[in-house]
Amino acid sequence: MGKPTGFIEINRKEAIEREPSERIHDMNEYKERFSDEDMKEQGARCMDCATPFCHIGMDIDGATSGCPIHNLIPEWNDLVYKGQWKEALRRLEQTNNFPEFTGRVCPAPCEGSCTVAINDPAVAIKNIERAIIDKGFEKGWIKPREVEYRTGKTVAIVGSGPAGLAAADQLNQAGHTVTVYERSDRAGGLLMYGIPNMKLEKDVVTRRVRLLKAEGISFILNTEIGKDISADALRENYDSVILCTGSQKPRDLPIQGRQSKGIHFAMDYLTESTESLLNDNTEPEITAKGKDVIVIGGGDTGADCVATAMRQGAKSVNQFAINPQLPLKRTEDNLWPAFPKVYSLEYAHKEAKEVFGEDIRQHAIQTKAFITDGQDGVQALYTVDMEKQKNDKGLFVYDEKKGTEEVWPAQLVIIAIGFEGTESPLLDQFGISSTKGRIDAEYGDFSTNIEGVFAAGDARRGQSLIVWAINEGREVACSVDEYLQGVTSLPTVQTV
Ligand SMILES: Cc1cc2nc3c(=O)[nH]c(=O)nc-3n(C[C@H](O)[C@H](O)[C@H](O)COP(=O)(O)OP(=O)(O)OC[C@H]3O[C@@H](n4cnc5c(N)ncnc54)[C@H](O)[C@@H]3O)c2cc1C
Ligand code: SF4
Repeated sequence: MGKPTGFIEINRKEAIEREPSERIHDMNEYKERFSDEDMKEQGARCMDCATPFCHIGMDIDGATSGCPIHNLIPEWNDLVYKGQWKEALRRLEQTNNFPEFTGRVCPAPCEGSCTVAINDPAVAIKNIERAIIDKGFEKGWIKPREVEYRTGKTVAIVGSGPAGLAAADQLNQAGHTVTVYERSDRAGGLLMYGIPNMKLEKDVVTRRVRLLKAEGISFILNTEIGKDISADALRENYDSVILCTGSQKPRDLPIQGRQSKGIHFAMDYLTESTESLLNDNTEPEITAKGKDVIVIGGGDTGADCVATAMRQGAKSVNQFAINPQLPLKRTEDNLWPAFPKVYSLEYAHKEAKEVFGEDIRQHAIQTKAFITDGQDGVQALYTVDMEKQKNDKGLFVYDEKKGTEEVWPAQLVIIAIGFEGTESPLLDQFGISSTKGRIDAEYGDFSTNIEGVFAAGDARRGQSLIVWAINEGREVACSVDEYLQGVTSLPTVQTV
């Protein structure tokens, strides 16, 4: 521990963000880096509290608390405080394959369970993580690692999101010959076509993919397994297969008027926006420009749609959430070290507030119907307010509040109400068993009902977080390595 009194003397420094009024005019990253001096000070705030809850990585009341890959946070905090950046990087690399992603967009469950956060703002863990990896790249400390010994075993990974990439990285380092298949034209999964550029610049993703290629991993893009290559062919040609196909089947809202033009799923909207940015920077076909936009769904995906609509020049933006607004402070049933369920303005909401003067989220509201204009285009939404209450079985239910019906103008509607699992044609071809869109494979073992076929990431656990995808990618690699060689020496995260 560098400075025993650091947490008493030094205040937390919040992430530095570009001004909302400025950043909504471009798609560049909205956060800025801390200086080395600031990082050193922030590292000094770590108490080295002996039982570091920041890396417990477990679910408490349905939300992650602590770091799911058990990053060695107090160790690298201390090394950053002492200016030993290279050593900090080596510690970070022991547990995290891709800190440049998590250091930018992880919701940082580590900070919610930081011991300092019991009665003070948490250590700025996520920003320190980002600073370490960014410095590593800048200084040229991160170079392709040579794999000295090849086992002769082959592994096919379907899907190039963070789970597939982490599994590929681990298995390649263990000496297996790894090929990643991806149906998109670019590798990265939701890192590439999901999370918008202002949160995670795409150069950061391609830099990592280039590194993995240089280390010997093959990427075959524009190739859908189950369509372009059959499941049987894949099983015949490889010693093992890992399905990391994500959970991108969108949940629909089949209400009156759903067939109207101008109603789109969030992923279609976000993918098109990033595609047009990367391809020719022209206006995407689905655009918010000059329109009243309503995003249905109060989660992070919805917030990314709000931020995208702001940049496209929407006339107005509203985001509908079924849940009531969160409290301003932790409540009695949400105490430390659980993830704090408290009201906050996401980057997108700060931007919308700057332009429209208020938080654009409408809480406890349900859309009852889409109202169509003469040409079949959506024109408005018909809604009613909801009340959350416990029923006689003690379960929370939502009841409509009479007399609260409203009509909201909208020429563009984005549906962002979650995902129903991985797409089924692929699973049917493999004969893989699944439950509610999630592949049946036990955590820790990851094998499916089909010999030699494993599953990890959102395809197995449902839509989650990048840090969980990395956790599962690392863990499935251990299982596959053991399957191929009878034993594994790959490091395990050992999370239940
Ligand atoms: C809009 C959005 C924003 C998000 N923001 C954040 C965030 O800020 N922070 C965070 O921690 N998490 C965020 N998440 C969640 C996070 O991105 C996911 O949990 C994570 O990417 C899951 O990784 P994965 O590898 O399991 O799957 P994915 O990233 O979904 O990758 C799956 C890949 O498999 C490919 N694929 C599917 N089927 C086939 C097939 N048959 N053949 C070939 N390829 C196939 C897909 O094209 C895709 O590239 C966000 C999610 C969304 C939707
Ligand atoms: S990966 Fe996420 S939870 Fe883990 S240390 Fe980084 S920000 Fe925290």
